[in-house]
Amino acid sequence: MKLAWEPEDEAFRAELVAFLDEHTPAEAGTRDFGSGGPVDEDIIPAWSRKWQAQLFDAGWMVPAFPPELGGRNCTPVQTLIYLEEVARRGVPRSLHFPGYAIVGPSLLEYGTEEQKQLVPAAVRGDTVWCIGMSEPNAGSDLAGLRTRATVHEDAFVVNGQKVWTSYAQVAQKCCLYVRTDPDAPKHKGISLLIVDMDTPGIDIRPLRHISGAAEFAEVFFDDVIVPRENLVGDLNDGWRLTQGSLAHERAGLWVEGVSRLEQSILSLIDLATRFGADRDPVVRREIAAAYENAASLRALGYKGFSSFAQGSSAPEHSYMKMASSEAAKAVFELGMKIQGAYGAVVDAERGDEDGRWIRGFFMSFANTIAGGTSEIQRNIIAQRILGLPRS
Ligand SMILES: Cc1cc2nc3c(=O)[nH]c(=O)nc-3n(C[C@H](O)[C@H](O)[C@H](O)COP(=O)(O)OP(=O)(O)OC[C@H]3O[C@@H](n4cnc5c(N)ncnc54)[C@H](O)[C@@H]3O)c2cc1C
Repeated sequence: MKLAWEPEDEAFRAELVAFLDEHTPAEAGTRDFGSGGPVDEDIIPAWSRKWQAQLFDAGWMVPAFPPELGGRNCTPVQTLIYLEEVARRGVPRSLHFPGYAIVGPSLLEYGTEEQKQLVPAAVRGDTVWCIGMSEPNAGSDLAGLRTRATVHEDAFVVNGQKVWTSYAQVAQKCCLYVRTDPDAPKHKGISLLIVDMDTPGIDIRPLRHISGAAEFAEVFFDDVIVPRENLVGDLNDGWRLTQGSLAHERAGLWVEGVSRLEQSILSLIDLATRFGADRDPVVRREIAAAYENAASLRALGYKGFSSFAQGSSAPEHSYMKMASSEAAKAVFELGMKIQGAYGAVVDAERGDEDGRWIRGFFMSFANTIAGGTSEIQRNIIAQRILGLPRS
């Protein structure tokens, strides 16, 4: 067994660290990564737009991509090094993930030559994208979506409603999943359209999270005309596209989840010390259990990564999102318990990190829902990994 990095990987890390040391904006380090940001902050503040563009121009936005797409053709191992270094510092590379993480890879795989031209701006963050999947009656059961697009010779006409659409209020474009064949079995009549968010007939109504931030919206479509050439992939083949083409991102997403969890545990230790709870045997045991959990998740992530880097599938990664978001929820719950009634108070003078705990606590629930709920992930684990029958 060899546990050292290759010299070229160490050189890659040194170049990255030097870049981050020199260029990371002050705001990125203090940003409450993963928990929604302060309530009164722009969803995508100017510093983060500039930072994303800077990362892209230097080939550090998605290092596995080629230079013209904001990368440097790096290897999977180097991607892991990159994700760890960035996550360790709590530096968000972007505050709007759909463009670089979902839209870019999907258009590269399924888009027409013209649609592929949209990718550099999506990854650089110059174009903000949103993803219109969920509807009031189609979340976990996404294939039940009903937003309808009637097909005409040179255009689609869209009517219906989406909900929980992150960034809709600031997005220029939307990857919109619509029903194009209402008579086909439900997985078969779905298509993917690129929709310009300023098209007449689109009504965007922001929704506030319980944390107070308004990062998503409900979006209504009333006779919205979408040019035929905005269809991605084949007509009625949208379900296959929902599965995405995120192999690299998926293999790395767990790093952010686990690193964020580890950072929350360090903050929890600090909080327990400040509140004098660090000598309480129950609190100590719970913190140690959280640490143990995070360490096991990291080890499992590496195991999955090793299979992925050798070209095999990594079923471990489908477990990681559920496990790390549930573990983070437990950490934030303990943080709230330690603070008692003070937990609900946002008071910078008392040193409660400017509402970090209460905001993180609220968002920790959202993170077990977004991108597929924990219950659905458990169903997937039971059926696809453990081979159990459907209940
Ligand atoms: C912060 C955040 C951002 C989001 N951003 C987007 C976005 O940008 N675009 C987008 O399209 N959507 C987005 N969503 C929506 C998200 O994908 C859905 O909330 C999620 O898929 C669950 O769907 P639902 O809310 O309709 O809940 P439902 O599917 O109605 O589920 C309700 C409850 O029932 C449980 N349940 C449902 N079916 C089963 C089952 N078969 N077995 C066991 N339990 C079950 C669920 O786990 C859940 O607890 C976002 C959500 C959040 C929280």
